[in-house]
Amino acid sequence: MQTTFSIIKPDAVKLGNAGKILAILEGAGFRIKALRMLKLSQSQAEGFYAVHRERPFFGSLVKFMTEGSVIVMALEREDAVLKLREVMGATNPANAADGTIRKLFAESIERNSIHGSDAPETAAEELKYFFTTQELNQI
Ligand code: GDP
Repeated sequence: MQTTFSIIKPDAVKLGNAGKILAILEGAGFRIKALRMLKLSQSQAEGFYAVHRERPFFGSLVKFMTEGSVIVMALEREDAVLKLREVMGATNPANAADGTIRKLFAESIERNSIHGSDAPETAAEELKYFFTTQELNQI
């Protein structure tokens, strides 16, 4: 079993797609280990996406990620990191496979409804960024 980190982004929460996304994730065999709704602060969003700080879209991405509530989650299943990336679909919804979350709900390459860690090491860091050890081990 592996645990990965995911965010339902502000576009999806605002458009009322959060429940549908959770249902897809559970249907794909993920168990929700921890979950919280919050509004990211500017510094939280900048820190989370620090790897992208030199990219031209960084300012716009931080503005988007702080515009409304998000839902942060710890998701468990076999091969959770890879499987979540599969269920999410490509970053740009125009390239996302049919049936993926981004194909179904994303509005654009930026407003693309969901984040999922890209590797087990990143997942461990991102889980720690939002959850305490106690929250991650309570069920
Ligand atoms: P992910 O791992 O599929 O989420 O993609 P990345 O790590 O490459 O990018 C992080 C996030 O930045 C994406 O999910 C998008 O919200 C946003 N993003 C990525 N590429 C672009 C881009 O070319 N333009 C804009 N405006 N946003 C982007």
